[in-house]
Amino acid sequence: MDNRSSVQALVRLLEIFNLTEEPQIRAQTLDTIAESFGTDVVGIVCSGSVVAAVGVGSDATLLREIADGGLGPGHLADGPFGPAHTLCLPIENRSETFFVLARAGATFSGAESSVIRAMVRMMRLAVRTTSAFKEEQATRRELQCQVVANSALAEQLRDRHDSLMQRVMMIQRAVTGANHQDQTVKVIVEQASGLFGTDPIAVRLHDGEVIDQWTANVAADAVDRLAALPVEAGISGRAVKEDALVVDTCYRSLIDPTLENISAIAAPIHCRGRIVGSMTVLGGHDRRQHHDEEDQAALLILAGYVSVAITDATTTSRLQRSLSDAEWRASHDNLTGLLNRERIVERADEMIRAGHRPIALYIDFDGFKTVNDLYGHSAGDAALVALAARLSATIRSDGSVARLAGDEFLALLPPMQEATALDIARRVASALTAPLELNGRHLVLPPSIGIASIDAAGAEELLDAADLAMYQAKRSATERIAFFDDDLRQQRTRRTGIEQQLRLTDRAMNGFELHYQPILADPDAHICGYEALLRWDNAALGVVSPDEFIAVAEDTGNITRIDEWVLRNALKSIRTIDPNGQARVSVNLSPASFLLPALPDVVRAALHRAAASPRRLAIEITERVMLGNPDVVAANISHLRRLGVSIVLDDFGTGYSSLSYLRHLDVDGLKIDRSFVAGADHDERGVAILRSVIGLADSLGAEVIAEGVETNDELQLLRRLGCSRFQGYLFGRPVPVERVVPHAHQGSLSRTTLTAAG
Ligand code: C2E
Ligand code: CA
Ligand code: CA
Repeated sequence: MDNRSSVQALVRLLEIFNLTEEPQIRAQTLDTIAESFGTDVVGIVCSGSVVAAVGVGSDATLLREIADGGLGPGHLADGPFGPAHTLCLPIENRSETFFVLARAGATFSGAESSVIRAMVRMMRLAVRTTSAFKEEQATRRELQCQVVANSALAEQLRDRHDSLMQRVMMIQRAVTGANHQDQTVKVIVEQASGLFGTDPIAVRLHDGEVIDQWTANVAADAVDRLAALPVEAGISGRAVKEDALVVDTCYRSLIDPTLENISAIAAPIHCRGRIVGSMTVLGGHDRRQHHDEEDQAALLILAGYVSVAITDATTTSRLQRSLSDAEWRASHDNLTGLLNRERIVERADEMIRAGHRPIALYIDFDGFKTVNDLYGHSAGDAALVALAARLSATIRSDGSVARLAGDEFLALLPPMQEATALDIARRVASALTAPLELNGRHLVLPPSIGIASIDAAGAEELLDAADLAMYQAKRSATERIAFFDDDLRQQRTRRTGIEQQLRLTDRAMNGFELHYQPILADPDAHICGYEALLRWDNAALGVVSPDEFIAVAEDTGNITRIDEWVLRNALKSIRTIDPNGQARVSVNLSPASFLLPALPDVVRAALHRAAASPRRLAIEITERVMLGNPDVVAANISHLRRLGVSIVLDDFGTGYSSLSYLRHLDVDGLKIDRSFVAGADHDERGVAILRSVIGLADSLGAEVIAEGVETNDELQLLRRLGCSRFQGYLFGRPVPVERVVPHAHQGSLSRTTLTAAG
């Protein structure tokens, strides 16, 4: 193969930069090589298997054998047409991938193998570019089209420059290798000077003004003068302006007064379709008059290579930037810029593996959901960003901080005394509790902090423990900071057990049973209704109190089917307990159940199934429903009340903003929480609270029910304050339906109690 066909082969291979898929690039490279070098078989072998091949009888076994056989040329293998010369080139330095060729007849010469090497490097570059930057293909294509167009001119470069092929290959190597842009352009200018003898050569890059230049055969003082020349000056300025090759046969150098009436040629340099510079060759002292077509073609090719080098350099730096962006995104939270869950888990795992005992602070904000609900999500986001900034400012020197999800954060501290960790937690709490300004309003979002300082086997166990401690902190009335301890560990085990057993509960609700507790009404203290209270006796766990399992059922999404079962069974029972009477059954519905838009239909269907009048049903809800969609709450309340179902607000007084919610909840009754009833007769403040609650309900036209009445004194006090409905152990504990004393008899039983008491 002669110089010329080698150049042609390389120029043809530039086509692969127009391709967008790796297999196509590979196939095109193999085809070009097979054709240019007359190989019988050429292929790529990766870890012993052939990933691509072309050639007559492209025999996988042969290719694998060659790859196994060694790296150098000169081996003789059994090819499809008898003995064949082989060549095996590693594609990546470290990898198991080889480029393998076999040809019957002539051996691969040193020159041929270096051309093939150059082509393999081009293929690698093309694959790298395409897989990382498909979008770049368009600009690259433009650029390559120009280079390919030059190939026609290249054909004119006959043997005059013996070394052209060698030079192009060196340039090619510089461009496709991992060289720095500066290095690559230097190589190009150097090779150009080899081609053009003593002609002064300059490459200038600019971005508004000249930012970089490379020269050959230019005197040092002239180099400075050149740097000072404006972009648009001289023949290089014309090439830039005209975006084309410019030829001047009677040029006067602007930097070297001794050079006048000389020949000069200049070509533009492109990057991503923009003109970013020029390459100029002046007629030197020994050759003033002639830059023929071959010289012009050579300049175009060289300028094209500078363009490729620059595009590649900016591509690479963009590639690096976008890689580090991607790395950053993979380990950080987008919104707050803190570490993300994956990264902090990794970090904790690293510490634990190294034998340290890191401490985790799990931080959650009480009532954050209301911020989103009341002020919108963008305000919520702004609050999170502000809180994250405070958190990391407080922790900064002590450890690392991550946002786990929503309003949950984690601080990971190095091993330290528990007392020190507690100090840090307090500092965090006070920094986070300071009022936050949001849309001109001041907001306080107190955090709950759980601390885990345990011998954890891994990060997940540590986080779990801190999470649990955080829930414990939420429940504590005073300081909302708690450590993980053995009690919590047991609670956790119990909770996991409840979760599992709830999952196993089928539609028949085996082990569940409703108990009924009477509700009495003055003036004659007759039984006006029963509250249905759920009991669970589980084979594995024993008796589980509703305070335990209802919360778990709410968290795990089991509550709606449980509540529906309760509703149906309570309505059935009320017909058994009081077949002809007026007694109502009260059913507790969790917020999730009450917030179902279809709730009125569910209730109607249950009433229909039990053939019960809507007057026989009261639904007890808590203020917690107001954390859901207020429109659905209002619609369901009014729909159900229109049906004739009563709505009672349960646990009244325990929420922190009862009064404001009351404005929006149009209910039939308020149930005073038993914590206000217990012992109120001994406590003046208790009396005051009861009086005001009862007065409030009165003024709203709602009836008041006192729950948890255990003593006569409590009963008498409530009566004096104007309360007329009661529920409590004084009158009866919750019992299964078959133990509820038939209604007619029970009325007199209660009356006896009351009379005796009064
Ligand atoms: P709640 O709705 O406030 O129910 C009243 C609780 O007070 C019941 O506890 C009842 O047994 C208890 N109680 C009644 N009288 C007295 C008394 O004189 N003294 C004392 N100390 N306690 C009394 P229980 O049955 O353990 O239920 C606890 C909570 O579980 C209920 O509070 C309710 O919120 C929830 N719950 C019970 N059944 C259901 C249900 O079917 N669905 C839903 N969603 N929640 C339920
Ligand atoms: Ca209740
Ligand atoms: Ca209650």
